[in-house]
Amino acid sequence: MARLKVLLASSEVVPFAKTGGLADVAGSLPLALEELGVDVRVIMPKYASVKAAGDFAKIGKSIKVYFVENEDYFNRKELYADLFGDYKDNLDRFAFFSREILARCKKEGFAPDVIHCNDWQTALIPVYLNTIYKYDPFFANTRTLYTIHNMAYQGLFPKEEFPKIGLDWALFHIDYFEFYDKVNLMKAGLVYSDAVSTVSPTYAKEILTREFGCGLEGVLKTRENALFGILNGIDYNLWSPEKDAKILKNYSVDSLQDKYLNKEMLQKEMGIKIDRNIPMFGMITRLAEQKGADFVADIIDRLLNMKAQFVLLGTGDIKYHVIFEKIAKKYPASASISLKFDAVLAQKIYASSDLFFIPSRYEPCGLSQMISFRYGTVPVVRQTGGLKDTVQEFDPRTGKGTGFTFIEPKSEELFRAVKKSLMVYKDKPLWMSLVKYLMGLDYSWEASAKEYINLYNRVVKK
Ligand code: ADP
Repeated sequence: MARLKVLLASSEVVPFAKTGGLADVAGSLPLALEELGVDVRVIMPKYASVKAAGDFAKIGKSIKVYFVENEDYFNRKELYADLFGDYKDNLDRFAFFSREILARCKKEGFAPDVIHCNDWQTALIPVYLNTIYKYDPFFANTRTLYTIHNMAYQGLFPKEEFPKIGLDWALFHIDYFEFYDKVNLMKAGLVYSDAVSTVSPTYAKEILTREFGCGLEGVLKTRENALFGILNGIDYNLWSPEKDAKILKNYSVDSLQDKYLNKEMLQKEMGIKIDRNIPMFGMITRLAEQKGADFVADIIDRLLNMKAQFVLLGTGDIKYHVIFEKIAKKYPASASISLKFDAVLAQKIYASSDLFFIPSRYEPCGLSQMISFRYGTVPVVRQTGGLKDTVQEFDPRTGKGTGFTFIEPKSEELFRAVKKSLMVYKDKPLWMSLVKYLMGLDYSWEASAKEYINLYNRVVKK
């Protein structure tokens, strides 16, 4: 059988550029696919952060990562927005990116069996393949998979910008691009792709409902037979306390005392009280409504009065920056607030924390809980989307479960979960057995990469 040829198209890829989980996925799924024998290549824009010389780089053993260059569009520090909001030319930028991807396939003589598109930035690829390139023999056998990483980011633009896409106005129609008189790239991507997937089984079900579908639940319903949920994995070469070069001292299940050296070091670095026995809650997140940081802010007084510490690393909406700056001032010895994006500090926080907050209102998959597991850090999460698929409520009587959870999106519910977690924390032997159990869980890509291969094969046969 010929080797399956896959081109993964993404607007961000670790280690070249990252704003969120999409970059982690785009940088690590290919590594697992390569191991399983797929001829996989990756394509992304050449942002200012891409230091590689030339128009491609290599990851894994021999995976080519192609860069799409455009000085005006991509040679910028930020990916999608600056302090003044979304870049005004985002439609020009990503329509260009999508067109260039197809042109680049031809230039490289690489006709993929599947182009794996991710989020609105690459949603135009299935559209172009079915319009401009419909009768192009080069792409006669190329199919598309469109993966949704977050329903809330659909690529919405004013109607007046439609001509930038370069297609007939007839497609500005309720069955394709039109969404309440706006251009919606995700919608067209969902309609034109051969299969659609999202990043966890639970989210795949949730997005068919009004609560989670963000207005596209109807369109998704029409694609229900071609809609799949595949849980993300993480790259344990990157995320592992045994190998992580960014943390003070590596550790494993057999040398857990060293986890607490990391904790003391972070406490020192952040200027909070140095004491390995104080339970430390970490949180690393985009500060957006989705992530529920406000639930944590609501309970912070009670939390810190219970002799706990809170270490936040996050950036996003200014409203949350204001809230957490106040908290930092009020609790200099027990709250450490870093309002920025910092990949190195993130690794230190995963390694040092005892517990980790993910109180999301919705969560397509969530990677932080899987990273936390690996570092022996116990997640406190809301049961939604991928969090529901990965974190089961811990039962102190049986010792089963992988974290502390709550269902209703309310701060009181979070607080209830926190109180329970602190009760368990006090029981050292029980706590240590939970920590050790979490470190042994396997959320590597292997199983999910196999599911992707099955799905690719399915669309190829279409
Ligand atoms: P999302 O993609 O919705 O932001 P995920 O949980 O899927 O959420 O992925 C978030 C990823 O980004 C994780 O790897 C997390 O550690 C990282 N991250 C989020 N905020 C920051 C930050 N301020 N600094 C460093 N890493 C961050």
